[in-house]
Amino acid sequence: MAQELTTEDGVVDALRLRKALGTFVSGVTIVTTEVDGEVHGMTANAFTSVSLDPPLVLVSIAAAAKMDDRIKQSGRYGVSILCKQQEDLSLHFAGARLKQPIAPEFQWRKGVPLVKGALVHFACTVTDSHPAGDHTLHVGHVDALYHEHGDPLVFFTGSFKSLNFQGETTWEF
Ligand code: FAD
Repeated sequence: MAQELTTEDGVVDALRLRKALGTFVSGVTIVTTEVDGEVHGMTANAFTSVSLDPPLVLVSIAAAAKMDDRIKQSGRYGVSILCKQQEDLSLHFAGARLKQPIAPEFQWRKGVPLVKGALVHFACTVTDSHPAGDHTLHVGHVDALYHEHGDPLVFFTGSFKSLNFQGETTWEF
């Protein structure tokens, strides 16, 4: 039987909401931007498509995250969709302390930094930034797209998973 997660007076508890949203399987991305010659990155899974024509995507960034101000300042961002070998990178860019520290490497596409070795790179220019509760929705026009073969890193119920397609994901573009 389904468990009611809202309280009797209809309050949605933030932790329960987070857990419920965690059952929506997603990929994992690193969002990157550059301000005054300094690259900043953060892990995000609130990334989605918006429009094909014009080509638009969206990232939802916590207003409390440094990234939010940095995107507002630069007006540009990159999205790197991670492959299954990049779990450490996603933990690093979420602010976790790793036993073995890593030094991320960036690659520049159309003036936007992206993380090396990712499955897909989107270089974007912000078209709209909408405040939404405690987050900001940054809609970006896709200026450039790059793809590499590999298996994705997956996030589900608060932990990283991997899917192994054994080479079946060799999409041709
Ligand atoms: P910080 O916390 O200061 O930076 C993040 C980390 O990246 C720090 O360890 C910093 O040292 C490192 N870093 C930044 N730039 C560089 C650089 N140039 N070189 C080397 N290291 C660098 N939050 C959201 O708002 N939206 C989401 O969709 C979202 N999805 C998430 C999905 C997952 C799977 C996880 C684990 C976390 C997610 N988060 C999301 C949380 C978010 O990643 C963290 O809150 C993050 O710490 C916010 O980053 P910040 O911009 O405040 O900067």
